[in-house]
Amino acid sequence: MKNIKQYNLDELKNEMISIGEKPFRAEQIFSWLYREKVKEFDEMTNLSLELREKLKAEYDICNFKIIRKQESSDGTKKYLFDVLDGNAIETVLMQYHHGKTICVSSQIGCKMGCKFCASTGIPFVRNLSAGEIVEQVIAVEQDILDNISNIVFMGIGEPLDNYENVMKAIKIINNPKGLNIGARHISISTSGIVPKIYDLANENMQCTLSISLHATNNKKRSEMMPVNNAYPIEELIKACKDYIKKTNKRISFEYALAKDNNDNLEDAKELVKLLKGMICHVNLIPINKIENGKFTKSTNENIIKFRDYLNDHGIVATIRRELGSDIDAACGQLRRKNLNN
Ligand code: SF4
Repeated sequence: MKNIKQYNLDELKNEMISIGEKPFRAEQIFSWLYREKVKEFDEMTNLSLELREKLKAEYDICNFKIIRKQESSDGTKKYLFDVLDGNAIETVLMQYHHGKTICVSSQIGCKMGCKFCASTGIPFVRNLSAGEIVEQVIAVEQDILDNISNIVFMGIGEPLDNYENVMKAIKIINNPKGLNIGARHISISTSGIVPKIYDLANENMQCTLSISLHATNNKKRSEMMPVNNAYPIEELIKACKDYIKKTNKRISFEYALAKDNNDNLEDAKELVKLLKGMICHVNLIPINKIENGKFTKSTNENIIKFRDYLNDHGIVATIRRELGSDIDAACGQLRRKNLNN
């Protein structure tokens, strides 16, 4: 059975033609799926009974089931979804003053093995399809009875390692006749798959690119992120400069501060040198302590000193608010708990 949420509007029009229907049916179905967020074909009441039966025979609506939902005192909600094949993924909803942001997963498991990430140790199973990425947004909207305004690809998985499906999902999410979430409100976070950063620069998309940098030299970065062995910092920064030149868009660099590892002033100095002259922003993340993990959170004093050093030397830096810290905020933790239970 084909997941009907995996098609963008043009593809859905072609699907309708292929089953002997008029293309405008696709717009009606799109509206039912993404505006009304119905869970059954039978709820699409402006379609004939015959067409609904045809759709039921060919397609699946793919409604994720909530296995577990945790709610933080700050309003953050963390969902563990059953993706209907025995696998589970997690999606996090965060409430900011500027709206509701959802952090989506792009893969089941992850190949990257970042040492500070709770997904490490969970084997890679498979890529999520475009429809499964889109369904995370819909399933959360159905649960909270409200619309999401921003999407970040920062959940489990490396989005650029599932490039085609992530691009396709963004096009579905973008569509003004559907969820209508503008590309400017979508952020893709990568551990640094250099060739895909060049590809992304050529997409002519308005999404924000976010790079998980976390260290300023290859030795430290490779210790934290094995992907650095394949794509060292020099190559990564070169790709980022190309991206900025082609898109004229600011890159956001994520820097998770771990105590006595990458949080001293020498690191801040190296970071200034590395990013000098680039249109960018540094997002400092107080690292979450991970069960059995090697890294622990930096002190507040060090985090503030680090930020001030960057700001004083021409690099715009802010400290990310810790949301959901009382409900296992590091990605992968909810899923791992479920596997352990
Ligand atoms: S931080 Fe992201 S890219 Fe790195 S292992 Fe975790 S899920 Fe994968």
